[in-house]
Amino acid sequence: MLMKKILFMLILLAMIMTLCIAESIEGLPLHVKKIGTDVIRIWAGDYISSTAVSAIATQKGIVVIDSTELPVLDQAFRKLIAKEFGRTDFIYLINTHGHADHTNGNSVYADCRIIAHESVPEMIKENFNQHTQQIDWITKDNQRQNDRIASGKLNPEEIKAARERLIINSLSLKFFQSAAKPQLPSQTFREKLILDCQDTTFELYQCGGTHTKSDSMIYVPQKKILFTGDMMADKWLSDTPGCLATFAIRSGSQEDYLVLVKNWQYLLKQKNNIDLYIPGHWNGELSASGFENRFNYLNTMLNEIKKMAAAGSELSKISETLALKSRFPQLENSPGISERGHQMSIHHLYQLFSGKISLAAALQKLFQAADFNAEFNTLQADLLKNKKNYFYDENEINNLGYFLLHQQKQISNAMMLFELNLKLHPNSWNAFDSLAEVWYVQGNHENALKFYQKSVELNPDNENGKKFIDQIKKELEKK
Ligand SMILES: [Zn+2]
Repeated sequence: MLMKKILFMLILLAMIMTLCIAESIEGLPLHVKKIGTDVIRIWAGDYISSTAVSAIATQKGIVVIDSTELPVLDQAFRKLIAKEFGRTDFIYLINTHGHADHTNGNSVYADCRIIAHESVPEMIKENFNQHTQQIDWITKDNQRQNDRIASGKLNPEEIKAARERLIINSLSLKFFQSAAKPQLPSQTFREKLILDCQDTTFELYQCGGTHTKSDSMIYVPQKKILFTGDMMADKWLSDTPGCLATFAIRSGSQEDYLVLVKNWQYLLKQKNNIDLYIPGHWNGELSASGFENRFNYLNTMLNEIKKMAAAGSELSKISETLALKSRFPQLENSPGISERGHQMSIHHLYQLFSGKISLAAALQKLFQAADFNAEFNTLQADLLKNKKNYFYDENEINNLGYFLLHQQKQISNAMMLFELNLKLHPNSWNAFDSLAEVWYVQGNHENALKFYQKSVELNPDNENGKKFIDQIKKELEKK
């Protein structure tokens, strides 16, 4: 009997110890990494690009940088941080920016002062307003992940990644359905804020205009660390870089960029005192040269587009002058730098400095319109009357048309975009080719044939057009 009792006690003890170690939460492994004296980085999962929270123990108390998308994770993180440091005096939480995966868990630090850039509160409110759409998205994604696993086509690593996504999805669903209230920052700042924690200083710099309007970089001189949020990384440690996928200059105003340049220049001057550049997700790394190259890119783009727009240069001329390959060879093929992101940045800055309206952006806004037809007609009438107030790119409008045609299955809306493109580029073989395709999808083979013939007349090398002409002729003969 005594033996049985001892055995029972031992099993109970083993169970309690396992719970205390807390190496995983809901099946997600927890990672804690020491990155400096009294500085740790902590995250959950091995595959999905999740937020890495950092914590620094100072004489004044513990400072945490970022919460995650799930308060349940932050509760576990907070316990782990306390255990690592052997203390519980949390004083500050700093949000690097307003995205949900850096702020949803703010409520776990409601007893602390929560500090962020002044545009973060609005972003947090918007995140909470989107929970219904998020629930929809997750429900569909669960189906997608289960189908992928069931397909038998995934390798073991892909299966593990899909399973991890399913765990995060189920935790997210619980959170979205819990009617949680947003926990906004209790202190905001505009350009710069210094937090004195006795032996440690936190210098917060507004760096909005790249990843979001709300980005901040946090410099901790005594630890020789710069926290860069989701703005950039030049090495990815997993296949899904998540928020670190794009470095683009497309979310700021002219005033934001003045501050961004000033603050970034200051941080570059500190480079001899920075050993570590820490991105906001566990699966990204950033080097000093990557940090410097991205500043040079930003500064060149801002200066040259401003100069060229003032001189009345066309967008196409600017794109040609600032081609990624020839002007920024040190960034070609660098993680987070893509041709698409580069073009979006050029457009955004051209719009800012020329004062003209981006037709592509105006069209994209219509995609959410209650009455697409009416709003399209108003926009088109203004555009055709005041062409000089707009700027546009043939391929961009064409791509938007295809997005409506294939992704959204909005055939008549796609047709309106292709017709507009033809009005703006009456000699474009590609505009004729796209219209031909939409006629074909609609089942009007006569019109499709006419437009393909016109396209091939303008460009005899249009092989796709020739192929369709043959095919349509055969189909018409059969009728
Ligand atoms: Zn982000």
